[in-house]
Amino acid sequence: MLIGQFWGTSAAEGIPAPFCRCQNCLNARKKGGAFIRTRSCFRLTEEIMLDLGADAVAQSVKYGELSAVQHILVTHTHEDHLNPHMLMEAMWSREYRKTLHYYLTDKAFDIVEHWRRSPWILKGMVPRWEEAGIVAFHRLEYGRRMEIAGIGATPFRGNHRGNVGEDSALYLLELPKGQTLFYGLDSGPYYPETIAALKGRTIDIFISEATLGARIGQNHPNHMNLQNVRDLTETLLAQGTLTPGSRLYLTHINHHSAPEELEACLEQLHFPIPTVVAWDGMKIF
Ligand SMILES: [Zn+2]
Ligand SMILES: [Zn+2]
Ligand SMILES: [Zn+2]
Repeated sequence: MLIGQFWGTSAAEGIPAPFCRCQNCLNARKKGGAFIRTRSCFRLTEEIMLDLGADAVAQSVKYGELSAVQHILVTHTHEDHLNPHMLMEAMWSREYRKTLHYYLTDKAFDIVEHWRRSPWILKGMVPRWEEAGIVAFHRLEYGRRMEIAGIGATPFRGNHRGNVGEDSALYLLELPKGQTLFYGLDSGPYYPETIAALKGRTIDIFISEATLGARIGQNHPNHMNLQNVRDLTETLLAQGTLTPGSRLYLTHINHHSAPEELEACLEQLHFPIPTVVAWDGMKIF
C-alpha cells in the first residue's frame, strides 16, 4: 500500500540543531510544529522506507510503527540517513519475524563489510543476524532496475560523497498505476552522466534535496541551493524527464534559511513546475 509520507525533511544537523543558537534554530525551538525538521527519510509504502536515519525512533513515535517495513533503500552511508542502531531495534522485537532488507548501491556496500568485521559495531552481532535471517544486505548497481515489494527501483549516481567514499544513490521508483517518483538526495548539481541516464525516463513526482535553501550565493560541491535545484529542474524539463504535469518537493533543508526566506526565494525564482517545500509528516499521495 502506498503511503508517501515525509518522515523527516532536515539536513544532517536537524532544525533546531542541538548545539546552535542561530535565529532560525531559536525560532524553531520557540514555535515548534512545522518549524521543526528531523533528519530526512521517507515512507514510500507499508513495506518500503527510503533511508532510516538518525531520528527514526522518534519519527516512528509520531508517524507509526515499522513492523510492516521490510525494505530500506539507502541513499548513502552518512549517519543522518543510515543508522545501524535500527538493526538492533528490529532484532529486539520478538514480533518482527521478518527479514529486514537493506539495499546499498555500488561502493556504499563496503560499509556492510565494515559492520560484518567490526566487533565495535552493534557488538559484532551483524554476521549472526545475517545467519539468523533477521537482516539481509543487497548491493545494487547504478542504472540497473530491481523489483522490490511490487515497486520498480533504479538507482542513479548522485554527486555526494558518503562515508566510504561512495557516490550517493538517487532512486527512480515506479509506483503502481504507472506513476514515477524520483528521490534525489543527497546530491550536488548532477553529473552530466546522470542527466544523460535520465533521458528517456519520466519523473512525475520529483523529490529533491535543497540543503542550502535560500543561500543562493553559497555553492557546495555536494549539496544544492534553490537556484541549483531550479537549474536542474529546467534541464530535466528541457529533455522531457520532467513534464509540465510533474510536481517538485524540496527536502533535506539546513538551518541557515528561515521558512519565510525559503518561500520568498521560491517565489522569486519562478520554478517551471509546481514546487513546495516539504515538511515533516507531509503526505503526497
Ligand atoms: Zn544528508
Ligand atoms: Zn541554527
Ligand atoms: Zn550526506
